[in-house]
Amino acid sequence: MLDDTVAIVTGGSTGIGKAIAEKYLEHGADVVVSNRTEESGRETAEELGCEYVQCDVSEYDQVETLIEATVEEFGRLDTIVNNAGIGHAASLEEMSIEDWQRVLRVNLDGVMYGSRAALPHLKETEGSIVNVASIYGLVAGPGAPAYSAAKGGVVNLTREIAVDYASANVRANCICPGFVETPMTDDYLEQDQFYEFVRGETPLGRVAQPEEISGIAAFLASEEASYITGANIPVDGGWTAH
Ligand code: NAP
Repeated sequence: MLDDTVAIVTGGSTGIGKAIAEKYLEHGADVVVSNRTEESGRETAEELGCEYVQCDVSEYDQVETLIEATVEEFGRLDTIVNNAGIGHAASLEEMSIEDWQRVLRVNLDGVMYGSRAALPHLKETEGSIVNVASIYGLVAGPGAPAYSAAKGGVVNLTREIAVDYASANVRANCICPGFVETPMTDDYLEQDQFYEFVRGETPLGRVAQPEEISGIAAFLASEEASYITGANIPVDGGWTAH
């Protein structure tokens, strides 16, 4: 499905990003995994058998370097998966201004930076952007205003890119996962009360595994999705259906 294509997965060292990188490789893509923490990123790349470039997505010059290094290595770029993100739970009054800015910088600016730096190359390949937002980009999450604001921004930024670059045949789509068992959610889901809240809000009655998110990410990057752009697709066990 992705033979002869080249993809970057930000935040690809673990969790959802790692599963997406694995799925892309399975479907024949060349993959560059990227994250902030070099040791864990390199370890994952070695395990999966793909390339690695260190990059903090909240620093534009590092994102540019990631894109340029990929194009230098493989000669093209077909897909960027803007997946890197951080969780954050605190009410507006509880959080520091620095925390607000940090969450917005990684979760929203990072997606803008990845998309902006990739676009010149995606125009050449008529490639696509796959963003990872959240159900909390579609509905409010209790106690997570910075995270929800950033993810809501990603949802509408995706639509904007889709509209602006349709004439160049560059597609942009977004996945909005519900709760997924990853290092990001481990601590929360270990708390019985929180786990029961999540189960109660999820019609399918359970959290997802990263592998339940990666298939749609591969599909969206493929020719099978050639008429899909500007879509924000919940993969949430029914969370946003009620
Ligand atoms: P995770 O297990 O915590 O992994 C996050 C990844 O992002 C890691 O590779 C991490 O690498 C990287 N990262 C964090 N900050 C970065 C930065 N500034 N620059 C570059 N890389 C950075 O998280 P996850 O659960 O897989 O989440 C992946 C995406 O899905 C996120 O955007 C998250 O918001 C979204 N999501 C997750 C859930 C869920 O329930 N898990 C639900 C909805 C949406 P480092 O080690 O370098 O930090």
